[in-house]
Amino acid sequence: STLQEKINQTIVDVNDFPKEGIVYKDITPLFLNPELSGEIVDAFVEKAKGKVDIVCGIESRGFLYGIQIAQKLNVPFVLIRKAGKLPPPTISESYDLEYGQATIEVNSNYIKDGARVLIHDDVLATGGTAEACAKLVEKCGGKTTQFSFIVDLTFLNGKDKLTPFATDIVTLIE
Ligand code: 5GP
Repeated sequence: STLQEKINQTIVDVNDFPKEGIVYKDITPLFLNPELSGEIVDAFVEKAKGKVDIVCGIESRGFLYGIQIAQKLNVPFVLIRKAGKLPPPTISESYDLEYGQATIEVNSNYIKDGARVLIHDDVLATGGTAEACAKLVEKCGGKTTQFSFIVDLTFLNGKDKLTPFATDIVTLIE
């Protein structure tokens, strides 16, 4: 079977999590399967080869394959975290949620001027989080040249928020 079929057969839909009416995609069963996880990392690496100088992973599931992608590309891996988790010096970016606001941070020294950045996460939903990450990368002087996600929840049109930053948006399943 294809990589897409294998991912689809492995990911679990969880109804009414974290709130009633939401169907949550649980991707953690992917990590139970080292062979499939290796194929997923390789697929992302193939798409990013020669195109990026840094991989930024979004807390927390973006760290898991993100660092493996960076190591295979032989480029630095940078953590983007929720506010208050990283020691200084940091730069932050706030963005709106359905209820309230969220703030993310990155070490202000790690993204060099003009660096081509891959922003990686597990799931693209509304795109608000990845968009805020791209703004953060911009504040640091970097340029987002690719986004990658395991899953795109296409009905939320998250890609629309990201195309102003980069049109290269890699998703393994929709
Ligand atoms: P967005 O900002 O695109 O609306 O939400 C994306 C963030 O929320 C990502 O960091 C992602 O991990 C998380 N997220 C949203 N929906 C889901 C989901 O159904 N499954 C998982 N695993 N993460 C989700």
